[in-house]
Amino acid sequence: MNKRNIAILGATGSIGTQALDVVRAFPELLEVSVLTGARNVALLIEQALEFRPKAVVITDESAYKTLKEALAGTNIRVLSGVDALVEVVTDPEIDVLLNAIVGAAGLKPTVVAIEHGKDIALANKETLVVAGELVMGLAEKHQVKMLPVDSEHSAIFQCLVGEEQNPIEKIYLTASGGPFRGKGRLDLMEVTKAQALLHPNWVMGAKITIDSASLMNKGLEVIEAKWLFDLEVDQIDVIVHPQSIVHSIVQFQDGSMKAQMGVPDMKLPIQNALTYPLRMQNSFERFDFLKYPTLTFEPADQETFRNLELAYSVLRAGGDRACVLNAANEIAVEAFLNDQISFLGMSDLIEATLCQQKMVKQPTLNDYIAIDQQTRLVARDLIDKI
Ligand code: NDP
Ligand code: MG
Repeated sequence: MNKRNIAILGATGSIGTQALDVVRAFPELLEVSVLTGARNVALLIEQALEFRPKAVVITDESAYKTLKEALAGTNIRVLSGVDALVEVVTDPEIDVLLNAIVGAAGLKPTVVAIEHGKDIALANKETLVVAGELVMGLAEKHQVKMLPVDSEHSAIFQCLVGEEQNPIEKIYLTASGGPFRGKGRLDLMEVTKAQALLHPNWVMGAKITIDSASLMNKGLEVIEAKWLFDLEVDQIDVIVHPQSIVHSIVQFQDGSMKAQMGVPDMKLPIQNALTYPLRMQNSFERFDFLKYPTLTFEPADQETFRNLELAYSVLRAGGDRACVLNAANEIAVEAFLNDQISFLGMSDLIEATLCQQKMVKQPTLNDYIAIDQQTRLVARDLIDKI
């Protein structure tokens, strides 16, 4: 494999920092040429001084001066603001964009990178939730690879290697069930953000941790899977697997099923995406059968966790509905974390926002960006009225 040049958007986050662990493990294969962060300027400075990329971006403009001064003695280009994210991914030297930004803000950089022929290692699932059909169409047009980083999608992707001629009958996305697995709606009425932020198996950024507790994360992953693997909605099932060892399962037309397994460690799918198609030897943790004598599976409770049902319904409705769901959810999570709405109130807000926003059938990229912004205003307005 030739050395791969990577741009990491969201380098200061949970996926971003683990991606840099992977880069540290394979310095002969992976080279970083862009690093970006939003607010954590201290960490971005540290990363820039260690990895010496060509360019760094801090999207929070008020942190630009600090970053610029800290990197003054180097030849690293220092930029700030969201537009800079789009500019830096066009550098001809970049082979792969690892998009590890959180939220719909990841959409535009992905689109521009695809248009410039970069392969995409996609952690930012919101890109495909908001505009999956459009993004996958562009990836095909520009002949770039979409390499999933999300562990479930990485699992499906790995199970499909060598199966190009064999249609998928269905896929099972596994879900840990989150901290509130087994609870009913009455139990969930009073849960706090501290409880929701305690994920049993994974340490992740705040937004995806809340999404995991509310099962919206699995809903977003159903939508992500539809577009990544070109499936009908009914071909995608969710199964709760609390140990998070089986990362997902593909069932073929002969009834045979392939699953991908491993310890819950995001460095594995990140490495898979960055070194694909090679499986490089590493020293990350190995699976221990004695630690996991039993692997269990149970149905997902869509009546308690209504977000999963909402995600299926927007996918069936099509048009801009998933973009609206995503934007409403981003506002709902923010409001829950700011103690403005309750845990169950998040689904209510998303549903109310979907009702208020008129359906747009075939949005363009600019439409999606406008709908995302408009939806945020509607959702915030609804919160103010509560
Ligand atoms: P974090 O919140 O830990 O990190 C997000 C990163 O994006 C940080 O570098 C942050 O900068 C930056 N950022 C935040 N908001 C913006 C914005 N509006 N514009 C540009 N940059 C921004 O998130 P995670 O790493 O947990 O998740 C990243 C993505 O990966 C999400 O889409 C998530 O769903 C997906 N994912 C994450 C998994 C995980 O294990 N964490 C697993 C599977 C998927 P700063 O910190 O400097 O403010
Ligand atoms: Mg996942």
